[in-house]
Amino acid sequence: MPGFEIFGEEERRQVQDVLDTGVLFRYGFDAARKGHWKARTFESEFAARLGTKHCHLCSSGSAALSIALAAAGIGYGDEVVVPPFTFVATVEAVLLAGAVPVFAEIDETLCLDPGAVAQVLTPRTRAVVAVHMCGSMARIDELAELCRRQGLVLIEDACQAVGGTFQGRALGTFGQMGCFSFDSVKTITCGEGGAVVTDDADLYRLAHQYADHGHDHAQADRGAEDHPILGMNARISELNAAVGLAQLRKLDEILARQREAKQVLKDALSACPAVQWRWLPDPAGDSATFLSFLLPDEERARRAAADLAAAGVDGCFYWYDNNWHYLRRWEHFKRLKSPARMPQTGLPEFAGLAQVQVPVSDKIIGRTISMQIKLSWSDADIAGRGERMAAVLAKI
Ligand SMILES: *Cc1c(COP(=O)(O)O)cnc(C)c1O
Repeated sequence: MPGFEIFGEEERRQVQDVLDTGVLFRYGFDAARKGHWKARTFESEFAARLGTKHCHLCSSGSAALSIALAAAGIGYGDEVVVPPFTFVATVEAVLLAGAVPVFAEIDETLCLDPGAVAQVLTPRTRAVVAVHMCGSMARIDELAELCRRQGLVLIEDACQAVGGTFQGRALGTFGQMGCFSFDSVKTITCGEGGAVVTDDADLYRLAHQYADHGHDHAQADRGAEDHPILGMNARISELNAAVGLAQLRKLDEILARQREAKQVLKDALSACPAVQWRWLPDPAGDSATFLSFLLPDEERARRAAADLAAAGVDGCFYWYDNNWHYLRRWEHFKRLKSPARMPQTGLPEFAGLAQVQVPVSDKIIGRTISMQIKLSWSDADIAGRGERMAAVLAKI
């Protein structure tokens, strides 16, 4: 990752198709578009690849989360279980739906711990948003089973895990709905884009209607369409979809390169006793966009992060200090508490982050470093990187 590193003729050709017709809109203009339906084509190819029935391509991963929550009927006063380690968009989507985010601890998968989720359920819990962080999977079978038993909606935030699988099944297809992001730095990119996938025809219908002002998408004449539900505009443009289509067709190549590079790096670090790999419930399903590892304690993790940077090993994240990916720095949610005056939200019920205690997650994230696996690396870059990392981490 990210997919933009391998932009080429394929992306250019797809975009040119759209520019040649002048039809940048994903609906209608049947004659003028000369057979080019980039968003629709992406949707059918992506659904087929994932083995799911329906896909709606939309404007962003954040929009996909909002669409999924809306389609599932999650709203005011509902509690939604989320992890404290995720991109902030997961929690924003819950708050903007008017629901209350409830944080459960993660485990060494760096994703929600199913046992911890069970402990935070209340009569108001309606949904769980399981986030597959850094290219790899949560214990998604156990989370799906828990949600099924408790009658909860499971939404997967697979924004960072396109191409990942668990026991051969695509991440994003275990819950009622799966959400993906194709923003500018994700594994495959549309520039901006996202997708909601589902096997449920009713949820799919609500999703595409909600993302387009409630249009029922049932008439040839768009202006004559009915609007059965309230919606908004979270549409993708054909230009963005065109880029995504070329990228989607490169996904296997991207995954193969990431996996190969990751294996070389893991081998190079095999003689570093302090390095503990992230727990992968199914190593074969890792999309390998990141190399994530834990050090024995926070002090050594901080030292390792600093020493790696000093040794010129770029692209490493020490998430515990990160503004965007760990709850510790989400000060703005505390300030939102009620002065935000957003009448549609459940913020008055959201006690704010000040009260949230996630000591297990603090310990795990405090020990964790992730490094982006880049597609632009040559074999020599990867080997050199492995040597430099091993020299640093052998001494930690
Ligand atoms: C990127 C990301 C999102 C949001 O996607 P956008 O397309 O940038 O809106 C949501 N959740 C996670 C885990 C992400 O990494």
